Amino acid sequence: MKILVPVKRVVDHNVKVRVRPDGSGVELANLKMSMNPFDEIALEEAIRLKEAGTAAEVVAVSVGTKASEDVLRKAMGMGADRAILVQLDDGAADVEPLAVAKLLKAVVQAESAQLVIAGKQAIDNDMNATGQMLAALLGWGQGTFASEVAIEGDTARVTREVDGGLQTLALALPVVLTADLRLNEPRFTSLPNMMKAKKKPIDVMAVGDMGIDISPRLTVLETTEPPPRAAGEVVGSVDDLVAKLKAAGVI
Ligand SMILES: Cc1cc2nc3c(=O)[nH]c(=O)nc-3n(C[C@H](O)[C@H](O)[C@H](O)COP(=O)(O)OP(=O)(O)OC[C@H]3O[C@@H](n4cnc5c(N)ncnc54)[C@H](O)[C@@H]3O)c2cc1C
Repeated sequence: MKILVPVKRVVDHNVKVRVRPDGSGVELANLKMSMNPFDEIALEEAIRLKEAGTAAEVVAVSVGTKASEDVLRKAMGMGADRAILVQLDDGAADVEPLAVAKLLKAVVQAESAQLVIAGKQAIDNDMNATGQMLAALLGWGQGTFASEVAIEGDTARVTREVDGGLQTLALALPVVLTADLRLNEPRFTSLPNMMKAKKKPIDVMAVGDMGIDISPRLTVLETTEPPPRAAGEVVGSVDDLVAKLKAAGVI
């Protein structure tokens, strides 16, 4: 079985982003960029399935400009066998989930993958849509917000985090899964593995040659900073804390 893992290059989750003065989005210049954390979790799961003998190959794929090669190298450093860059022109804007899903569908079909494990959302735009749209376009089942995955023959047994508990589904392969935070703890990428990954080739598919409409459907009207948080208060003792919580009607 071949597993395809989409990986997105996003602002590192430790960076505190700032909204551009004109409200047109967030400032991205000179910020540290990394692999979307949920994609790291998805990739870790795929590598574990390969190590367990369930999967034969793990292919990482990123839709982005040439700059996205760094997250693909990181993916190969973690253990992906190969990487594909679906390349946008340099300076191209972020592509919307529907367009990414259409491009990924073409890669899934070209690669004859039987399982896609994506992140549940990208932490830059928090759309939470690509995996679901990809499943719909492929006509496959979907197991979103997966916190546990087991492949049993032609069935994926997926535990999902839902409001108020857990839900377990049995899905017939091929299937699209999306990874939640508690699916696993991604491995540390060692320097020797990163050096080896630097030498591995990255296959490139130019978006312009794929004949797929990636024109935007959405218009961002405004981006604003969240309201500043009120300052905290240092309390002298647990009794003080309890008294204040009681006064606030919290307990
Ligand atoms: C990529 C990513 C994905 C995530 N996904 C999820 C998710 O799916 N589900 C989920 O539940 N969470 C998730 N989280 C975590 C969640 O977003 C944050 O932990 C949460 O929003 C708290 O944010 P914060 O800014 O208050 O964090 P922090 O400032 O780090 O504070 C975290 C908590 O630590 C305590 N704390 C921090 N400093 C102090 C202090 N000085 N004294 C006493 N207490 C302190 C407080 O309880 C505080 O709320 C995710 C985080 C990341 C980075």
